[in-house]
Amino acid sequence: MMIDAEALKAIVGDDWVITRRDQMQTYLYDETTPDQRLEPAENVVVVKPATAQEISEILKLANREKIPVYPRGAGTGLVCGAMPTQDGIVISMERFDKVEEVDKENLMIVAQAGVTLGQLLAAVDEADLLFPPHPGDEGAQVGGMIAANAGGSRAVKYGVVRQYVKGLEVVLPTGEIVTMGGKLLKNNTGLDLMHLLIDSEGILGIITRATIRLYPKFAGTATLVVSYDDRHKAINTVPRILQSGVIPMAIEYVDHDVITMSAENLGMKWPAQQGTGHLVLILAGSSEDDVFYQAETMSDVCQNNGAIDILIAERHQEQADILKIRSEIYSAMKPLIAGDSDITVPPASLGKMLDALDEIAEKYETKIATIAHAGDGNFHPYMLKELVARGVAEDVKVEIYKAAIALGGVVTGEHGVGKIRLKYLELMMDPKQEELMRGIKQLFDPNNILNPGTAIR
Ligand SMILES: Cc1cc2nc3c(=O)[nH]c(=O)nc-3n(C[C@H](O)[C@H](O)[C@H](O)COP(=O)(O)OP(=O)(O)OC[C@H]3O[C@@H](n4cnc5c(N)ncnc54)[C@H](O)[C@@H]3O)c2cc1C
Repeated sequence: MMIDAEALKAIVGDDWVITRRDQMQTYLYDETTPDQRLEPAENVVVVKPATAQEISEILKLANREKIPVYPRGAGTGLVCGAMPTQDGIVISMERFDKVEEVDKENLMIVAQAGVTLGQLLAAVDEADLLFPPHPGDEGAQVGGMIAANAGGSRAVKYGVVRQYVKGLEVVLPTGEIVTMGGKLLKNNTGLDLMHLLIDSEGILGIITRATIRLYPKFAGTATLVVSYDDRHKAINTVPRILQSGVIPMAIEYVDHDVITMSAENLGMKWPAQQGTGHLVLILAGSSEDDVFYQAETMSDVCQNNGAIDILIAERHQEQADILKIRSEIYSAMKPLIAGDSDITVPPASLGKMLDALDEIAEKYETKIATIAHAGDGNFHPYMLKELVARGVAEDVKVEIYKAAIALGGVVTGEHGVGKIRLKYLELMMDPKQEELMRGIKQLFDPNNILNPGTAIR
């Protein structure tokens, strides 16, 4: 395929087009494990536009020439979503890096799509406000988080990224620039295209700007690290917590050996030394007393369900360190694993899902290390590299998916389908729904140029 780099330079300027392969390596992959990831295509040009108008012109050119276009945020995705797997153009959003407005009156922030989560959190903190979600990698971009509808640790009480997006500016695959929503808390005008764009994994449009809802900071927070000598007891505590009347911001489960490895990898120390698994509960309240009450209630529930030790972190730095060690688990595990999974089951089925993971591990004589956004029913079981050598990694993965589906679950709760999970959709998708999805894609993108081979079959 012929990609006219000169025409692209005419749109964005000579300095913002990469044609040399050795200079584009970091744009060809994402964070998917090497054993799972696909190969990038041979003939790729990377373009770094700075305005929605430039993206519009690139997409019009791509439509004329029928060239695939791959929107790319920070490349922290775990399903090859941003990878160019056919010859085509990668649009990197890194120059869309401005926080345009923090509107304290409306409790909204307006940010360009390439602003990173870290930048967003800093701007929000400076305004003494709060953006509750925390997908693990703070390098992820606003556009990538919205396109993936990222979740993360703090979703139990306040939800995933979707709940915060109130307005979008999007360049459609055919080049039109449209705005959807705004600084509005209610909007029932017509079909909700904005929410269709959220979680569309870069196949329906390129997000260039977002209006995001914020909250006042909580008066107090605390993080509990609860230790168990049996991970089943830990996981089985979660439905009891959800029924207790106190809703933590986060209810995470981590295997002890996995979380200590993450801490060591960062040169830090995991605070809990007892037990084989931990729940990490992040509590937020309207006053110190409120947080204290929540911590007491949580301690009672955990102790009544077999906890052997409970640490309470109240200092800001201690809490930030715990979240950091939790958030960086994947970076520590990545060299050791063939792949991870992102299954989600109804919260009351968490225990049964863990039983199923144990049975699968026993059947294949392996260990399935597990972490979970447990309060969301969202497991990330890790499959060790040795399964690839034994030729059974795929069998183990499919068994995990089937077990989750049998419990009313799905093959992905937050990382998305991307390009590597398309083949598992047949395990669960209704053909009529897939037909509707293809129809929507066709309407937005008649030439199928935008991120082909992603999210839908
Ligand atoms: C250490 C680590 C921890 C993580 N923890 C979590 C977690 O807790 N929860 C969670 O949900 N995810 C997590 N992730 C996955 C990842 O960070 C999220 O999916 C994130 O939302 C991806 O953002 P990105 O900017 O890196 O997007 P990319 O990886 O660049 O792209 C992701 C998808 O979005 C599309 N896209 C990117 N930008 C745009 C745009 N502007 N317009 C349209 N489409 C676009 C791409 O085409 C691709 O399909 C983690 C990843 C790592 C490496």
